[in-house]
Amino acid sequence: MKAFNKKIFIKQISDNVKNMYRKNLEEASQEELFQAVADAVKNMIMDDWIATQQVMEKDEPKTVYYLSMEFLLGRALGNNLINMTAYAQVKEALEEIGLDLNTIEQQEPDPALGNGGLGRLAACFLDSLASLGYPAYGCGIRYRYGMFKQQIVEGFQVEVPDNWLKNGYPFEMKRPEYCYEVRFGGHVRMEMREDGNMDFIHEDYQAVNAVAYDLPIVGYNNHVVDTLIIWDAQPEVEFSLTSFNEGQYHKAVEESNLARTLVEVLYPNDEHIQGKELRLKQQYFFVSASIQRAIAKYKKHHRSLKQLPKKVVFQMNDTHPTVAVAELMRILIDVEGLSWDEAWKITTQCVAYTNHTIMAEALEKWPIDIFERILPRVYQIVDEINRRFVLDIMDRYPGNEDKIRSMAILYDGQVRMANLAIAAGFSVNGVARLHTEILKNESLKDFYEMFPEKFNNKTNGITQRRFLAHGNPLLADFVTKYCGKGWETDLQKTRKLIAKADDPKVQKEFMEIKRENKKRLAKYILEKTGIEVNVDSIFDVHVKRLHEYKRQLMNILHVMYLYNRLKDNPDMDFVPRTFIFGAKAAAGYRNAKNTIKLINNVADVINHDVSIGGKIKVVFIEDYKVSNAEWIYAAADVSEQISTASKEASGTGNMKFMLNGALTIGTMDGANVEMFEEVGEENMFIFGLSAQEVIGFERNHNYRPGDIYNNDPDVNRVLNQLIDGTYSHGDYELFRSLYNYFLNDRPDNPADRYFILADFRSYIQTQEKVAAYYRNRSAWAKSAIMNVACVGKFSSDRTIQEYVDDIWHLEKIKVRTSLF
Ligand SMILES: *Cc1c(COP(=O)(O)O)cnc(C)c1O
Repeated sequence: MKAFNKKIFIKQISDNVKNMYRKNLEEASQEELFQAVADAVKNMIMDDWIATQQVMEKDEPKTVYYLSMEFLLGRALGNNLINMTAYAQVKEALEEIGLDLNTIEQQEPDPALGNGGLGRLAACFLDSLASLGYPAYGCGIRYRYGMFKQQIVEGFQVEVPDNWLKNGYPFEMKRPEYCYEVRFGGHVRMEMREDGNMDFIHEDYQAVNAVAYDLPIVGYNNHVVDTLIIWDAQPEVEFSLTSFNEGQYHKAVEESNLARTLVEVLYPNDEHIQGKELRLKQQYFFVSASIQRAIAKYKKHHRSLKQLPKKVVFQMNDTHPTVAVAELMRILIDVEGLSWDEAWKITTQCVAYTNHTIMAEALEKWPIDIFERILPRVYQIVDEINRRFVLDIMDRYPGNEDKIRSMAILYDGQVRMANLAIAAGFSVNGVARLHTEILKNESLKDFYEMFPEKFNNKTNGITQRRFLAHGNPLLADFVTKYCGKGWETDLQKTRKLIAKADDPKVQKEFMEIKRENKKRLAKYILEKTGIEVNVDSIFDVHVKRLHEYKRQLMNILHVMYLYNRLKDNPDMDFVPRTFIFGAKAAAGYRNAKNTIKLINNVADVINHDVSIGGKIKVVFIEDYKVSNAEWIYAAADVSEQISTASKEASGTGNMKFMLNGALTIGTMDGANVEMFEEVGEENMFIFGLSAQEVIGFERNHNYRPGDIYNNDPDVNRVLNQLIDGTYSHGDYELFRSLYNYFLNDRPDNPADRYFILADFRSYIQTQEKVAAYYRNRSAWAKSAIMNVACVGKFSSDRTIQEYVDDIWHLEKIKVRTSLF
C-alpha cells in the first residue's frame, strides 16, 4: 500500500458516493457509505496485489493451492485495514467527515461461504499464508447463498436464505479471462491411436464454464496479497430461441439450469454428509477448474509436466475436494498425453490430504452408479487406481480380505473418497495430536501400517489478527503494553505476560477490559433478544455448530439442574451466571433443532422467574457467525469445550476463547489436550471420560445410561423434566425425542451415543469448582492472563509454518512497493 494520504482517501470516498449513487456524502445511507469506503480500501490494496502477482509470475515460486469447499471468511473491511496497518488512520480520516468506522464495518455482510470450524480454519490459513509471505491460492465456490441466516421464532430455529451478494460484494473481482470448461455426464468412447495407445473421448456431456472471482487476502504489514479464487458457474452458450434446432435448444436450457443450480447453495451440514448428486457436482466443478487453472499457469513457463510437483501442491481440505486425485490424473493422461505411470508419479507428489474427523457420517462415500453417471471418465480412472491399489494390498497381505475391506477405494457399491485420498496423497495429516493418534491407531490403522511415512500431525490454529487485533482492541492494546509490538506476527510474544500475571495492578487492568467487553456484548444481547444480563455474573459461553457430539444438551441439562437447586434452596450461596449459547443446526437435524428449542424454553422459564433474583440467566444469540463471534469470544469468562472425548478432531473455538482470556471447562478431546499442556492444570478445568474410555465403551457395547438414570436422583429429575411439561407449558411430547435419546437403546443407534450421562456428575462437580474459583478475583484474573500468555502455540502462523516445513516446502516471497 502506498503511504496513506488522508486527503486523497476522503476525496475518493465522496467521489465514490457520487459515482455509485449520484449522492453527496450527507445523503448516503450507511450501507452506501460502506460500499464507498470498501471500494476506496480495495484501491489501497491494489498496488500490493498487482506487485505480489508480478513477483509470482516472474520468480515462479512453488505455490500451494488450498482446495476447500468452504471458506468462512467473516467481514473483510476491518480485517484488511488491520493487516494493512491502516485501521487507526482510516478511522481518524472517517471521523473527520463525521463517519464512524465501526458502524460502517457493520454494514458488511459476512461472506458465509462455510459452515463452521473447517471453513473458518481455511480462512485463518489464508490469513497466515499471506502474513508469512507464502505464495498461495485458496480455491473454493462462489455460492450465491451462503450459510442460512438463523432466526429464532418462538424458540424454534427458522432458516432464512443468505443473499450475501444482494448489494454486490466490493472486495471481489470477476476475472473473465480465467474461464474453464467443466463436463458432466455423457459417455466415454475409446479409440485406438496409431501408436497403439488408447484415446478416451468424452461425448454427449453437459458442460458449464467455471469463471473465476478473485478476493484479496492481505498479509500483515508485508505487502503480500494472496488470492482466494471462488468459482462461479456460467452456461457455455448463450442460446437464442431461433438459431437452434430443438435438440440443441434443450441442451442449452439444461446446461444453463445446471450452471445456475451448481453454485446456488452451500450445503448447511457440518460433520454429516448426505450423498447428494449436486454436492458431487459442486466438488468436481471447483476442483476441475482449480486444477485447470494451476496447470495453465504452470504451462506458461514449462513444456513438460514432469516438474509440476516442484511448482504446485494441492492441499485437500477434508474428503470434499479429493476427486482432485482422479481429475489431475485425467488431465495429465487425456489432455496432456502422459502415460498412466508418468501421470501417477506426478499426481502422487502433488496431492496431500487433511483428515478432519473420525466420525463415519462425515467421511464421504458416493454410490458407484451415481459417481459413474455424473463423472464417467473420472470414474474409469478411479476404477483403475482402485484395481492397482487392491493388487498392492494383496501383494502386501496375501489372502487377507479384511485389509481389502478396510482400504479398497471401491467397495460395497461405493466410492470411498478418504481411501482415494490416502492411497494417492503423499501426506495424510490429522488436526490435533490426539486426533492424529486416533487415526493411526484406530480409524486408519491399516493405512498407517501400510504407509507410515505419509502420516503426520498439524495441530490447528487461529489468526490473532482477526480474533485479537480486530475482535478485541482493548486486550490487544493491553498485550502491546506488556509484551511490545510484534505479537501480531509472533504470538509467542504474549509469554511476557507470565511475569505479570501475579501483579494486582495488571490483574485489575485485565478484569476491567473483560468487563468492558462484557458490556459490549450485553448491549448486543439486549438489542437482539431483549434480555438484560448482569455484567458481573460469570459469562459462561457455548458457541459452535449445534451437534450432538458437541453436547449443548449436556450444558442445558446442567442449567436445569442448577435451577432445581436454586429453587430448592433460594438462599444458597450462588455465583450469578449467564449461560450464553449460539449455534446453527442443520435444517434436517432433529435432535439438534430440538436442543435449540429446549435452550430457548429453559431460558424463557428461568429468565422470567423473579424468585431466583436473576442469579441465572440463559441467552441464545441468534445467527452465530464470525462477526458476532469476535465480540462473543472477547466477552467470555468461561469457554465450554465439552465434546465427547475422541469426537472433536481439534476445535478452534477453544483456541479463540483462550486467546481472549477465557478459562476453559472441557474434556480431554481435540486440541484441548494441548491447551492443557500449554496453560497448566491450575488454569483449566478438565472433566469426563478419556478418549480411550469412550472408544472402549463403543467397542464393548457396555455403556448403560439407563443405570445412571435409575440411580442418580439429579439425573432422574432433569430427564423427567423433559417430559413433564416443566419447560413446555405442559406439553409432554415436545421434548420426548430428547428424553428418548438417553434411554432408547437400538443396535444402530445406542442410547446416549455421546455419553452425556456418563460425564454429567463430573461436569456438575467441575462447574462447582469454576464457580468457587470465580469468587477469588485475583486467582481468576491470574488464570485468565495465563491463558493469553500461553496461547502462542495456537496461532495459525505456527500451523502454516509446519505445513510449509513438512508438506508444502514453499519459499517466502518478497514484495517491495514504492513508498512515496
Ligand atoms: C471458530 C468458529 C467455529 C468453530 O468453533 P468450534 O468451537 O471449534 O466448533 C465455528 N463457527 C464460527 C463462526 C467460528 O468463528
